[in-house]
Amino acid sequence: MADFKSLDPRAPWVTSIHELARRPGEMKLFQRSIEAPVGLGSELIGVPEGSPVQVDLRLESVTEGVLVTGTVEAELSGECARCLGPVHEHRTFDLQDLYYYPGKDADDDALFVKDDLIDLEPPMRDAVVLELPFTPLCREDCRGLCPECGFPLNDDPEHTHGEAIDPRWEALRGLADEG
Ligand SMILES: [Zn+2]
Ligand SMILES: [Zn+2]
Repeated sequence: MADFKSLDPRAPWVTSIHELARRPGEMKLFQRSIEAPVGLGSELIGVPEGSPVQVDLRLESVTEGVLVTGTVEAELSGECARCLGPVHEHRTFDLQDLYYYPGKDADDDALFVKDDLIDLEPPMRDAVVLELPFTPLCREDCRGLCPECGFPLNDDPEHTHGEAIDPRWEALRGLADEG
């Protein structure tokens, strides 16, 4: 369902397109640093709430509405899927979205201009969340944890137990010796 509730012009991700409306070819820039909203990420990795998101967008008046293109940049924080260590990564996300003028018969998830305002948060959220890594890694070649004792193998790639310490193996060995 298209959402027709009005936008708060003072909300950080809401901006006026008044001077662009119905003037194809006109454009303006929307460049600022905005605090990340809550829940910008997955369970494993995301942009911490309140941390800065660098927004660099171009708002362009086209026949059907306002075309938004550009990037948002943010610092991701999360947990490495292999070693559970911290992951910090600076990432740039691309945005390209068209906001239709009201009255356009468009998809349910289409974006609309409302009272000469547009809300940049939903497309920004999609751009970030859909691009997040499914398996965040602290580094490409993270060695993970020792399956036997949980030791972080990045700290010592030579880590080894020599002999298996699993008691089930000990038991088997005992049987073999008896045989
Ligand atoms: Zn790791
Ligand atoms: Zn170990």
